[in-house]
Amino acid sequence: MRKLLKAYLKNTARAWFTGSPWFDPMLPTLYVTALCNLRCTYCEDFGAHRNADYRGQTLSADKMKRLIDILADECDLLYVTGGEPTMRPDLPEILGHARSRGLRYLAMNTNAVRLREHEEVLDLVDNLVISLDDLDAGRWDSSLAAQPERVRSLLENVGWAAGEQRRRRFTLTVTCVVMPGRVAAARRVRGFVYDLGAQFSAQHLSVGRLPSPALTADPEYGQFMRELLADKRAGKGVSGSDLYLSRPGASATNGCTPTAAPHVDWMGRLAYPCRELPDHVLVDLLAAGSLRAAMREGARRWGAPPADCRRCGERCYVEISSLVRHPAALAREALGYLRHPGPSART
Ligand code: SF4
Ligand code: SF4
Repeated sequence: MRKLLKAYLKNTARAWFTGSPWFDPMLPTLYVTALCNLRCTYCEDFGAHRNADYRGQTLSADKMKRLIDILADECDLLYVTGGEPTMRPDLPEILGHARSRGLRYLAMNTNAVRLREHEEVLDLVDNLVISLDDLDAGRWDSSLAAQPERVRSLLENVGWAAGEQRRRRFTLTVTCVVMPGRVAAARRVRGFVYDLGAQFSAQHLSVGRLPSPALTADPEYGQFMRELLADKRAGKGVSGSDLYLSRPGASATNGCTPTAAPHVDWMGRLAYPCRELPDHVLVDLLAAGSLRAAMREGARRWGAPPADCRRCGERCYVEISSLVRHPAALAREALGYLRHPGPSART
């Protein structure tokens, strides 16, 4: 993790001493496709009903590999997402390339519907992140617009993946979108995930890229997040730093410097300075040849990145900045991990 450590130390020095908005990249996210096989009602960008919009927007495996090369030049970690990554038949080839490039930590998000057809990805990732918002197949029929049988097979796939963790040496994280008035559903998913020996992750519902006001006003939600923090401190499998769990969805107290978590879309475009700001620009990363060159081009077109933005609460951006700003919090996370490494920690 040499690159990660170096970036962390440089970024912390910037945050504390210079206030520079230029954090070195630490955790890039790569959208390998915009296509999806579900149509979750809350999804703002993707879904099967939007696949036609993205027709012809799938990069070849070779171009995806080149993007991975560029990201791996500066980073030790990679988060792969979509759309739904398993919509790509060449997904194992792409993940295998990431592995061969020496990335030290590879995570991938999936809805798990087609997971059994891509079983080999379990041997390639360190963290498999499956989305699961409810255990009630009837409810999902409307929220995921999927047939109940499909939802039941999804649940079976989650159970199957949990059972593969130790043998195939990865961690399963189940992430649940918590919706207003539906905290009880999230609690049921949490219990299911603990029983499986996987990690639970709560994600607030976003509306227009911001945390749902109805959710943040719901006292049950605040209570649920406090329970998660207590569970984590007691050694249960809960994903998220104490900083994030104690201030869910709020960058207002954490602050964000988005260049630490660059997002690259399915066409190989860096969203600069982040994909959450509505006026962000897209920079062709393949043409730029490096993250640094792409950031420079982004700055030329948009301006310097925000140093301490408090507009949204998107965890993929905000949490990493928070941990840079609060080294003591990171040290506590590391100690907590050593005390409770999780049910499927690599040996
Ligand atoms: S599975 Fe993911 S990408 Fe697909 S519609 Fe649902 S939230 Fe969106
Ligand atoms: S807080 Fe949100 S909008 Fe602001 S820079 Fe970070 S990701 Fe972008």
